[in-house]
This record gives sequence, structure tokens and C-alpha cells, in this order.
Amino acid sequence: MSLEWLVIGGGIHGVHIAARLLGDAKVSPERLRIVDPGERLLDRWRDCTTTTGMNHLRSPSVHHLDLEHQSLQRFAGKRKSRSPGLFALPFERPSLSLFNAHCEQVEETFGLADLHIRDRAVNCSVDCGGVRVELSSGRELEAQNIVLALGASEQTEWPEWAPRNDARVQHVFEPGFDGWPSSPETVVVVGGGISAGQISLRLETEGHDVHLVSRHALRQHQFDSDTGWLGTRYTTEFINEHDPEQRRSVITDARHKGSVPPEIGRSLRRAIARDRLQWHEGEVNGLDTNEESLSVNIAPDTMVSADRVLLATGFESKRPGGTMLDELITSASLPCASCGYPIVDPNLRWHPRVFVSGPLAELELGPVSRNIAGARRAGDRIVNAVRSNLAAGA
Ligand SMILES: Cc1cc2nc3c(=O)[nH]c(=O)nc-3n(C[C@H](O)[C@H](O)[C@H](O)COP(=O)(O)OP(=O)(O)OC[C@H]3O[C@@H](n4cnc5c(N)ncnc54)[C@H](O)[C@@H]3O)c2cc1C
Repeated sequence: MSLEWLVIGGGIHGVHIAARLLGDAKVSPERLRIVDPGERLLDRWRDCTTTTGMNHLRSPSVHHLDLEHQSLQRFAGKRKSRSPGLFALPFERPSLSLFNAHCEQVEETFGLADLHIRDRAVNCSVDCGGVRVELSSGRELEAQNIVLALGASEQTEWPEWAPRNDARVQHVFEPGFDGWPSSPETVVVVGGGISAGQISLRLETEGHDVHLVSRHALRQHQFDSDTGWLGTRYTTEFINEHDPEQRRSVITDARHKGSVPPEIGRSLRRAIARDRLQWHEGEVNGLDTNEESLSVNIAPDTMVSADRVLLATGFESKRPGGTMLDELITSASLPCASCGYPIVDPNLRWHPRVFVSGPLAELELGPVSRNIAGARRAGDRIVNAVRSNLAAGA
């Protein structure tokens, strides 16, 4: 199959960029495909968000997958006739179910399910005619341009002490996670961010005895980076910084890693005060296991005996893409910063035929790159490349 565009990864980023290419850059649907191993597009998004039990997104309603900024607000119907709970204050954050229904509408509008190839890209090589992409099924595709929208959701962060072969210890974002207790249990949740908070609250509501272990005190921030990153306030200075090492350190400082928004902070503090949730501040430095229970050692001197340990420790910070990207970097001599991440041009081109989004676009888009806002920004830049006829063969 010979394509104009192949989007690799059908998550939030891949879906939005495909919609932008079709809707804004007027790429013909016959000439675009999205390759993703999920049964449906956005499977990883749906699985991870459902697991947390979250009711509303952390981001505002203008951050969605359609083209027009007000699309999600319009989709929600007239303000007067809206049912309560569709949006949460502040910043009109959509409910997860509204956001997901809107995603489905975007998929339908652009016929994205028909463009989805259920497979995994395992090798990409660039030559003067295009990019050859080999899939795990053995099938080969040829595209004039590819977008690497790989995301980080396949690389869950497992602490060294956590065994991978004990069903009682699971990472909540591991594909196929089935570690939810079916009867009342003592559960240790490990992690200091929003997902650890949401999962602890979900377990507490379901009647479990919950212990939340965080390395640090509760950190409260509305968003995972300052709102100044959504406009020009900080981004202009970021773009004017040309040293990728400096950019990396700005991104690290700007991210409110391991933070919770105020409403989750309030619910956690209330549950702790009412003795419905045990809070432990410290580093887990080991786990003793026997058939009956798990003993979690928390530095300096706490031991919690539990039926189950759920890791809500997020995703590894290393560059996604594994050996497929290692090989592409070598064969096409693609530039990387010392952190391993791509150095790309302002239109997110790593190579005339290779575009990036999400974590891979971070050194160009800054701290919001991984979020929905980052997908929208990546969409702007890639459409800009097409419009300026910069995409190879466009
Ligand atoms: C629980 C949770 C809640 C969040 N809430 C918000 C929020 O409210 N607002 C916000 O802005 N952000 C939020 N985020 C952050 C971010 O927007 C999401 O993580 C988003 O899903 C990232 O999208 P993505 O497309 O980059 O990555 P992913 O969701 O990881 O999707 C990438 C896809 O690419 C596929 N893939 C990987 N490698 C290959 C390959 N070689 N071949 C083919 N396919 C491949 C993967 O299987 C996956 O399906 C949240 C994240 C989580 C985990």
C-alpha cells in the first residue's frame, strides 16, 4: 500500500493529528492510515482513564481532539439544557464520559476506524522514495511521510523492588491490568500523583483498607504545568532557547510531576482525616512476600502488611519507541539531544519525511507536549508544514 501519510500510534495524539491532516490539510482518506495494535483507536487512553475512576479531565474543555476550539462545548449542547456534571469548575473541565463521547464523534466524522490498521510498526527505514514501515504481521507499508505518535503508555514505570511475577503486585497502567480486588482487601497504592490519588479514593469508596505511599508530601497544582505554558508567556522564551540541554532542564523544572489538583487534594485530606485512608510519606525500599501476605517496607521504619500492591508510578521518562527508533536514528542519522530525545525543526520534522508528536516532540513544544494541548499544538505545526509544502512529496 502506498500512502501519503502514515500515523504510527492511535492514541490521543495520533487520532488528533489524523483528524487535522484530513480536515485541515485536506489529505485524502485513501492516502492516510493509522497503525496501532489496539482493538480500537484510543484503547490505551480509555483503559488508563477508566482504571483511575476519574470523573473529569484535568484539562479544560478547549483541549479535545476535534478541529474547532469550541467543538466540545457545542457537542455538550445548550448550557441551559445541560445535565449537571458535564463540566467541572474551574476551567470547565469535561467529564470523562463527555470527552470520550466527543472523541467517538471525531472518529466518526473523519471515518478513522476504517483507516485503522490493527498492527504494530516494528521497523521504519527512509529512502528517497518514502518511508518503508514493516509491521509485526510481516506486512509492509510505504508512505511519503510518517508521524511518530508513539506516546509513553506502553512503558510503565516499575520500581526495582516490585516483582513482575506476583499477581498481587500490579501496575495500574500495564496493558491488560486485572488487579482490581473483588472482595474487601488491604491495598497499598504506591505513587504521589493524580492517578495514585484517584485510585486510592476509588478503592476507599469501594470499601477497601487503603494505604497510600508517596515519596513526598501532597503537592497541589491545578494543572501539571503552569497555565503560562498554554499561551505565549513562557513558550516564546522557550523557543528562543536553542540549546536542547537547557530546554530539557526548563521542561523538568516546569512540570509539576507527582502533583494533584485541588479537588483531589481536598478529597485525600478528608479521607486521611476521617481515618479512611492511611497516608505514608517515604520511599518503599523492599517487599517481603509469602503465600498469605505482602509486607511493604517503607523507609525509615514502617512496615505495612497487605493483600495487594498497586503501582500508580506512571511511565518511564526514557524516549519511547524502543529498538525501532534506535535503528531509525542510526540508519537515517537523526539528531538527538543528550537526554535521547529528538531534535526537530519548528514544524516537528525530525527528517523531511518523519514528523513527531507527544513525548518525542517535547524539546520543541515544551512541557505541555505530552498532553491534549500538546496534540493540538503538534497538529498546528504539522498542518503548517503541509500548507507550506514542506512535507516530502506534498
Ligand atoms: C490516567 C490519565 C489521565 C490523563 N488525563 C489527562 C487530561 O485530563 N488532560 C490532558 O491533557 N492529558 C491527560 N493525560 C496525559 C495525556 O494526554 C495522555 O497520556 C494521552 O493519552 C497521551 O496520548 P498519546 O497519543 O501521546 O499516547 P498513548 O496514549 O500512549 O498512545 C500511543 C499509542 O501508540 C501505540 N504504539 C506505540 N508504539 C507503536 C508502534 N510501534 N506501532 C504502532 N502503534 C504503537 C500505543 O499502543 C498507543 O496505543 C492523562 C494521562 C493518563 C494516563
